[in-house]
Amino acid sequence: MNRSVDLDLLLQPRLPSPVQEVRDERFERYGVRLVLKRDDLVHPQLPGNKWRKLAPNLRVALADGVGRIVTFGGAYSNHLRATAAAGRLLGIPTVGVVRGEELAGRPLNASLARCAADGMRLHFVPRSLYRRKAEPEVLAGLLAQAGAQGAYVVPEGGSNAAAVAGCAELGRELRGAADVVAVACGTGGTLAGLAAGLGAGQRAVGVPVLEGGFLAAEIRSLQRAAFEAPPANWELAEGYAWGGYARVPQALEAFAADFEQRHQLPVERVYVAKLLHALTDLTAAGRFPTGTTLAAVVTGHPEPSGPG
Ligand SMILES: *Cc1c(COP(=O)(O)O)cnc(C)c1O
Repeated sequence: MNRSVDLDLLLQPRLPSPVQEVRDERFERYGVRLVLKRDDLVHPQLPGNKWRKLAPNLRVALADGVGRIVTFGGAYSNHLRATAAAGRLLGIPTVGVVRGEELAGRPLNASLARCAADGMRLHFVPRSLYRRKAEPEVLAGLLAQAGAQGAYVVPEGGSNAAAVAGCAELGRELRGAADVVAVACGTGGTLAGLAAGLGAGQRAVGVPVLEGGFLAAEIRSLQRAAFEAPPANWELAEGYAWGGYARVPQALEAFAADFEQRHQLPVERVYVAKLLHALTDLTAAGRFPTGTTLAAVVTGHPEPSGPG
């Protein structure tokens, strides 16, 4: 039996995701045509880049017949929720290693409650240890504690070489559809893959939603792990993190609510709102020449359960 076919049959992703034209004077005034790549519609529980990054890992896990999947995230992680949902849909047990030991004694927030309802076993660890999970001995210790030895390990945020290669398909779907493709970045795995899938002359812009400055180097290293000839057709637009991950100041909230009103698009706040805001700002600053078609990747949809 070809189990890689099973994944699409079982989960029925909507691929390629639709491209939607929007009319918005904040772009039209500058001769920029805005289109939305609706990756939020790929799958209700595994939207957008979460599908694109998890699917290749799930294929390997299914083909290898692994008994369990373990992954890592913070209390509001979209990636943890997507992994938990995938586990439930595929009948593979999942373990989530969650940053923050102090959370163990408290009621679960809505995001973690969803993970638990999807059957994910949650294991809370101190931040000091969580930070060192890439070290082999620390990882082995964490897996042992969590009862997850021998499990298939998906890294935090889901960005490994298989995931990055999966995101190249997003770029390939956009060939011929835009001059510039923009995406919000957490780990940068989606941008790393997307850029590699684009055609000649197209370029990608990433908008980091975390403060930091390490991201460009991480993206280059993800690309080196996934591709033989990593492309240099991407750049980051810094300065649009609004104070850090999952921070949604009033002005950003107002921007997102207004965008929803104008375009009937549910705007996910942690990533997509920051991306769309950055694009209006960069366009007004003359960053895209007249005649540019700009594709914004809508990587996810808002969760009724709050940020993350
Ligand atoms: C996880 C996530 C991202 C970030 O993807 P990376 O590959 O980690 O950069 C962007 N948008 C949404 C909606 C997400 O859930």
